[in-house]
Amino acid sequence: MTAERVNCKFHGRGCKRTFLRDGEDNEVICGRHFRLADPDVSKAFKKARRRALKFLRAFERANKVRRQLIYGAVNRAVTSAEVAWRNLIADVEMKLNMGFEAELKARRKRAPTVEPKRLTQTQLMADMARGRR
Ligand SMILES: [Zn+2]
Repeated sequence: MTAERVNCKFHGRGCKRTFLRDGEDNEVICGRHFRLADPDVSKAFKKARRRALKFLRAFERANKVRRQLIYGAVNRAVTSAEVAWRNLIADVEMKLNMGFEAELKARRKRAPTVEPKRLTQTQLMADMARGRR
């Protein structure tokens, strides 16, 4: 049997990306859809996620007494990461409803358009003097 894979959260919107299921992760979104979110929203999510993971690691390392002390803080950090995730999903959904295309944004990111350099008069004259034009 092949390893279990999970769909991008926007599978219903025609996204074909799948990911290997790792542990208890139940929701995944692909890079294209992630980048569709407002930068402020994705930044807030990354920050909340980092914080939650930090708290969870601290909880794992802690002894029984310390665990009781930090339990509330760990719980709050995890909850805000979950809220930030919901916000991210909602933001991407809104962008899709407004007709934003994840694919277009991804393509734009991969191949940035390079503006042709505009030559100044002096550059042009210098090139001519060197016999390049
Ligand atoms: Zn996707």
